[in-house]
Amino acid sequence: MSTIEQEIAKRRTFGIISHPDAGKTTLTEKLLLFGGAIQTAGAVKSNKIKKSATSDFMEIEKQRGISVATSVMTFEYHDLKINILDTPGHKDFAEDTYRTLTAVDSVILVIDCVKGVEEQTERLMEVCRMRKTPVIIFINKMDREGQNPFDLLDELEQKLMIKVRPLTWPINIGQNFKGVYNLYDKSLNLFSVNKTRIERDIVAIDDLNSPELDKQVGERDANQLREDVELIEGVYDEFDRQAYLDADVAPVFFGSAVNNFGVQELLDTFCDIAPATLPRPTDVRVIIPTDKKFSGFVFKIHANLDPKHRDRIAFLRVCSGIFERNKFYHHVRLDKDVRFSNPYNFMAQSKDVIDEAFPGDVVGLYDTGNFKIGDTLTEGEDFFFQGIPSFSPEIFKELINMDPLKSKQLEKGIQQLTDEGVAQLFLIQPGNRKVVGTVGDLQFEVIQYRLEHEYGAKCRFDSMPISKACWITSDNPAKLQEYIRLKGTQIGYDKDEHPVFLAESDWMLRMNIQNNPDIRFHQTSEFK
Ligand code: GDP
Repeated sequence: MSTIEQEIAKRRTFGIISHPDAGKTTLTEKLLLFGGAIQTAGAVKSNKIKKSATSDFMEIEKQRGISVATSVMTFEYHDLKINILDTPGHKDFAEDTYRTLTAVDSVILVIDCVKGVEEQTERLMEVCRMRKTPVIIFINKMDREGQNPFDLLDELEQKLMIKVRPLTWPINIGQNFKGVYNLYDKSLNLFSVNKTRIERDIVAIDDLNSPELDKQVGERDANQLREDVELIEGVYDEFDRQAYLDADVAPVFFGSAVNNFGVQELLDTFCDIAPATLPRPTDVRVIIPTDKKFSGFVFKIHANLDPKHRDRIAFLRVCSGIFERNKFYHHVRLDKDVRFSNPYNFMAQSKDVIDEAFPGDVVGLYDTGNFKIGDTLTEGEDFFFQGIPSFSPEIFKELINMDPLKSKQLEKGIQQLTDEGVAQLFLIQPGNRKVVGTVGDLQFEVIQYRLEHEYGAKCRFDSMPISKACWITSDNPAKLQEYIRLKGTQIGYDKDEHPVFLAESDWMLRMNIQNNPDIRFHQTSEFK
């Protein structure tokens, strides 16, 4: 194997996703503990935007600062290099999460056993299904009185629309939770509250009928486990790694992240079965990680917290070849060559300047305004990575300039903020009216605050009667032009100057689809 092949085989780049409060931060921290990346619990700060913060901008800013530090966490474990990409759980930042998911090769989904599948879980899973991202499910908080594990599995299958296959199984639940039986390697891990670090209490149980099991967990629970396992083996197919890699089956683990229980089973199996760096589609061809030439794309941009310095950090996912410091690369959209003297990678609590990075890695690049989300860097070839679409925003408001003397600052500010992906901007002609679309109200407050503090521009937002944006195309350019002319101010142009129909209601959208068979209406910005 060549160096690059070896490096690729070592990489596991994944995201942990969950509805807020299910235990994502806690699980992340435990994984880092196992990897030796941090020494004490409590070292990883939650990047949650707390509810109380909605009207406290400084608080939001502070929390944004925390989330940049934990955007990517890298650690080594058993010769593997593991990159965890953090995702904000808050619904208003869902778009950020969707984009981060374009840069991972697999996902661990955390579920709260008391609450089961929650709203955010369903939406996140939809994105994973769309991209066929392999998913492992971790059912957390087994030390609480949660739902029956068989019912939970049924709920997962129904609501998340994916087949599941348990790989560990809980012995009792809540106060009587005694541990998990590992169906994958047939061992028993017994639970004691507040287990410290890597101390383990594993009992190998080759035969579930052995009296050793009764001795360990008591006769009643031993019999229940035997019954459960028989049922599982009868109902669920053998675990098939390929089906998991194809995103047809999600293996399921039970545990308690806060008590560090069931986490090692999860991590070890994850290392065993999760995919190494995967190929990525572009508009021209599929890019294979072992391609000699470097390529990568920007999936996240983070502004500097210090308003005096308007530089930003662009997060680049390396897709093929080797990324090298100080080497010139081709910025496809701008058709210009760029190089980076201080690219860095992220460890749990620090960032280090690096000389090279391999496919699967995420590199932080200082940016003075050259990057937009989705930008591709190559060694000269022209192509764009796909799968980083914009979805229709849910809330639309018109941006009104409150200080005519500062219109330049406002223009620049809103452009840069939308390049960062804080919100989507649609221009309506004539008049260059600016419609800002977001998934949550919080973003409007963030934009208003940042425009004022970073760009010195004052603005106001006026509600607009728009409920959905649909990107429009047609095989017949004349028909498309005619439709755009007819719809007038109901048409906006997105960041790539694609026309978008801004529909007042779902009903209006349906009518337009029905009455205009020559026009195609797309739910996302990616329709090539
Ligand atoms: P996130 O919003 O998904 O990142 O969730 P956090 O990791 O911040 O956890 C939310 C709350 O659940 C915190 O108070 C945790 O201490 C708690 N928690 C996490 N894991 C467990 C667990 O296994 N059992 C119990 N009882 N609580 C847990």
